[in-house]
Amino acid sequence: MTPTPSRTAIVTGAARGIGAAVARRLAADGFAVAVLDRTEGDGKQTVAAIDAAGGRAVAVGADVGDPDRVRAAVDQVAAELGPPGVLVNNAGITRDNLLFKMTDDDWDAVMWVHVRGAFLMTRAVQRHMVDQGWGRIVNLSSTSALGNRGQANYAAAKAGLQGFTKTLAIELGRYGVTANAIAPGFIATDMTAATAARVGMSVADFQQAAAAQIPVRRVGTPEDIAHVASFLASDAASFVSGQIVYVAGGPAA
Ligand code: NAP
Repeated sequence: MTPTPSRTAIVTGAARGIGAAVARRLAADGFAVAVLDRTEGDGKQTVAAIDAAGGRAVAVGADVGDPDRVRAAVDQVAAELGPPGVLVNNAGITRDNLLFKMTDDDWDAVMWVHVRGAFLMTRAVQRHMVDQGWGRIVNLSSTSALGNRGQANYAAAKAGLQGFTKTLAIELGRYGVTANAIAPGFIATDMTAATAARVGMSVADFQQAAAAQIPVRRVGTPEDIAHVASFLASDAASFVSGQIVYVAGGPAA
């Protein structure tokens, strides 16, 4: 018998930006969505938008790098929305600096959220996926995985997530679980707005300069990423696993 696809999704870092767009999209696709961010309050706006569109969502607070909070959050989601079958590891931060100025804390903070966070979340959720015989893991990598000046920590984390994704695909495929990564290029969010501020440019000028370097001559939107996440989370994507999908308005490498 073919397992029934789960209708519960968890999206981390879903208070804003890409995570919020992915959460809204998965809700529109019919998933009950756990909007996970550092605090429950952070996720309220995304939950309200999903409610207003007729979807179902709850806000869940957890630092993805804290194993106790992660375990409690996943238990809460399973109890309130049903066992999760989709996990989007999207929570992220940047602590950019040239290598010689990068502090131990800059390095650890980025590894904490992206690599440790994705590991802890996936370890906590996979048992629900294995029990159901169905699961979809989508990790947010980045074109920075290919190398980016001022981002030694972030590039290492995003490249690490690619190896993590491929290993999950190998280990979990036999249980009906796929794992893929989306590697966005420049997406207009608070994260890239913060980068503009760091380099002393207005957001508009920064985006215009970025767009000039992108083959399709525009920067990306959170919805560009949400479309791809929606496909990778769908039952139709069951034969796509261990892939890194660059979503960057052109070839990334
Ligand atoms: P964003 O607007 O900065 O949103 C990130 C969200 O993650 C925030 O709500 C943030 O909460 C949350 N978060 C951070 N650390 C967390 C933690 N330890 N536990 C729980 N939640 C946490 O970022 P974005 O631009 O949407 O990026 C989303 C993902 O895409 C990230 O993984 C990023 O690296 C990746 N990405 C983005 C771009 C881009 O151009 N924007 C390109 C490539 C990849 P706080 O506000 O409390 O920190």
